[in-house]
Amino acid sequence: MDTKFKPRRRRIRIVTTLGPASSSPDMIESLFVTGADVFRLNMRHGDLEKKAQMVANIRALEEKYGRPTTILADLQGPKLRIGTFEDGPVRLGFHQTFTLRLDEVTGTEDAVTLPHPQTFAAANPRMRLPLDDARIQLEVEEVAERALACKVILGGKLSDRKGVNVPDVVLPLAAMTEKDRKDLEFALDQGVDWIALSFVQRPKDVADVKTIVNGRAGVLAKIEKPAAMEALDEIVEQSDAVMVARGDLGVELPLQEVPPAQKRIISAARTAGKMVVVATQMLESMVDAPAPTRAEVGDVANAVFEGADAVMLSAESAVGNHPVAAVRIMSDIAERIEQDDIYASMRGFEERTYQATGIDAISLAARQVSQTVSAAGIVCFTFSGSTALRAARERPLAPIIALTPRPEIARRIGLTWGLHAITTKDVSNFEEMVGKAKRMALRTGLVKGGERIVVTAGVPFGSPGSTNVLHIAYVQGDELDGH
Ligand code: PEP
Repeated sequence: MDTKFKPRRRRIRIVTTLGPASSSPDMIESLFVTGADVFRLNMRHGDLEKKAQMVANIRALEEKYGRPTTILADLQGPKLRIGTFEDGPVRLGFHQTFTLRLDEVTGTEDAVTLPHPQTFAAANPRMRLPLDDARIQLEVEEVAERALACKVILGGKLSDRKGVNVPDVVLPLAAMTEKDRKDLEFALDQGVDWIALSFVQRPKDVADVKTIVNGRAGVLAKIEKPAAMEALDEIVEQSDAVMVARGDLGVELPLQEVPPAQKRIISAARTAGKMVVVATQMLESMVDAPAPTRAEVGDVANAVFEGADAVMLSAESAVGNHPVAAVRIMSDIAERIEQDDIYASMRGFEERTYQATGIDAISLAARQVSQTVSAAGIVCFTFSGSTALRAARERPLAPIIALTPRPEIARRIGLTWGLHAITTKDVSNFEEMVGKAKRMALRTGLVKGGERIVVTAGVPFGSPGSTNVLHIAYVQGDELDGH
């Protein structure tokens, strides 16, 4: 395979879920070369040994292609499930009574076990209980200590261990199960860059996980519960990134509520300068078919127009028949939209609020100056990554090249709109800063000799959080040598 990467001009990032259809080293490499920016490991499935192998295969690409890789481990969270049935699946009829029991019973068409006491404690009459991704809908009629008698509102086939959603109440559940704790420990040991947290209900769920993670990875909150929508701004504030997890969100909310929720989540994250991923069923028909539907193309395009940092493939790449084609088509759609005049006019997106900091002042100025002088790139010297994130929040026309001495930061910011990260040693004076910025800009292939760049940095050099310098530099073509 050609190990010279063409510069990736697309700004929105593609998160690609790995699974049985895509876990071989060759497949991971093809996905990476085709356009996968972030690899998602779904901790719900598969064993840890295989996950460790995938991490090693992904990281091996860094040496070969000379660019950072980004890995997100998605924790299953407190997903509720029913027990099993005596004689295989049962069929539930409209308006029949079906009872969920806390005690271990053998399931029949009259009752099944729900081994989660919290649901019984929080239940109330008229509460909705969607089962199996809302293919079955129950409504609670009578609440007893160990039994919920429900009316079937939407009937159909129900089989062993199907999922149960509880959209109407905040359950007294911890954000992480025992399995999640073990998976988290494993993922941090493997050095993954992002931890995604499922079924977040309250800001504290995120805060608790952040305490455990302690800066070793970014923490992404999946927004998939009505309770999370109600506390959206606080959850965004606690998180490093959020995901519009439309799968469960579309079970917990009426489907027509999902698009406005997507807009709200993107807007809240963009305003706060946090990353936002739009996920689930983006190219769903490609699980089987080699090409998407027009509606799916429109859905991906819409997420690009809305200013998301990333779009995500789930089943399409994890278990589908065409994982590489799905990445290529997603990438083609995004590149086309990002070149459109309408996108250019929307790219500033919504109002942002600014803090009275050097970082915010310089980031805003970098966008304006780069546009005024038609700069081919904005080069940010960043220690923690926060200067690069603030620069990306501005959604400038020019690509942002983030230079950091910390490889883990270069990997983590691979989830961010428009950022190209390079790990490189810090500089110690102004001349070195300008020289390195020019060389690195040329090295990405995004900037050519004869073009201008805007450089941002902090003086005194080597002091994190001090961004206070903006410089315009002219790049000659012969400046590529050196480190
Ligand atoms: C979702 O529900 O949309 C989602 C991304 O979560 P998962 O794929 O883990 O169910």
